Amino acid sequence: MTVFRKKFAPRRKFCRFCADKDLPIDYKRPDILRDFVNERGKIIARRITGACSRHQRRLTVEIKRARQMALMIYTAVHASEVKKKSVI
Ligand SMILES: [Zn+2]
Repeated sequence: MTVFRKKFAPRRKFCRFCADKDLPIDYKRPDILRDFVNERGKIIARRITGACSRHQRRLTVEIKRARQMALMIYTAVHASEVKKKSVI
């Protein structure tokens, strides 16, 4: 069981937005939002990030907004396909 636990970040599970009141949840800050999606652009489940339900909800909304603004990717596959097409 302990082996599986080591897969995730060693820091304690705590909602980062509750801990730091100055940390904005904003689509204009994809640098922050990026910590809550995996390398393929998927939103990471709350049980892994440790965000509380209130902030996870806001996070989801802002990530989706950021995607529409083309500040974030929807999927890794899509990003690589666009790259390939632009090369040709
Ligand atoms: Zn919170």
